[in-house]
Amino acid sequence: MNFGPEGGAETGRISLVGAGPGAADLLTIRALRALQSADVVLYDRLISPEVLELIDPRAERLFVGKEVGACAWPQQAINQLMVALAQSGKYVVRLKSGDPNVFGRADEERVAADHAGIPIEVIPGITAASAAAASLGQSLTSRGVSDRVIFATGTCREGDAPPDIATLLQPGSSVALYMATKMAGALREQLLAAGFPAQMAVEVVASASTPSERQLRTTVGCLPEAMKDAGISHPAIIFLRAAKEVSGAELTTETRGLAPV
Ligand code: SAH
Repeated sequence: MNFGPEGGAETGRISLVGAGPGAADLLTIRALRALQSADVVLYDRLISPEVLELIDPRAERLFVGKEVGACAWPQQAINQLMVALAQSGKYVVRLKSGDPNVFGRADEERVAADHAGIPIEVIPGITAASAAAASLGQSLTSRGVSDRVIFATGTCREGDAPPDIATLLQPGSSVALYMATKMAGALREQLLAAGFPAQMAVEVVASASTPSERQLRTTVGCLPEAMKDAGISHPAIIFLRAAKEVSGAELTTETRGLAPV
């Protein structure tokens, strides 16, 4: 806690800290320092026990977890708690899986802090797609094959149109799908309807970098069944790739999506 010249509590500060994909040794040194100097840590469901162990034992720990799609803790309540704790003079670490700036609602928390005049910083983390690609031994980009990588979500806000993944999958693109395990069946339908071949390669990595990591290499045609058989569940990244060598005009059902696996 910070104290002013009169001994009263000064306004604290907030760090949105990226916890990485799960393995504690994939934390940044800056993130580790924040965990060791925090007064209070607000953490999510995906934070691994081995990362939680690195928090200073004197720090207060508060679970503010959310299930995918359904909020146990509404975002606004998290924002209010985080701000109130910082206003009481505490150094608040808001610990988020992966990188706070990737599907982490960091912007909403930043706005809440800015409104309250509380200093806030982001400590970046290794995002799940990077960890999953490393586990597969595969690059997110590949010279001459995929020159752009897209991080997309398979989940949308209630009432929004489901994400159109087929449109993202232009030649030369890799797509890393977050929060998409529940849409495996819909994804197959979408890709086949868009003309991608059933034998197009798909890789899935669940719980990348943790002791329960699972990997799956399959095809679009078999995706939902193969995920079920392999016991793949949340959290997972689904990778799709469309090779670059064919130009848009030359795209046919035969050539689309035949990226090397
Ligand atoms: N900010 C996080 C993403 C949070 S959204 C990041 O940068 O990684 C939650 C989604 O992240 C999960 O549904 C899953 O798609 C992905 N995810 C998080 N941790 C993961 C892990 N260890 N392995 C695979 N996917 C993971």
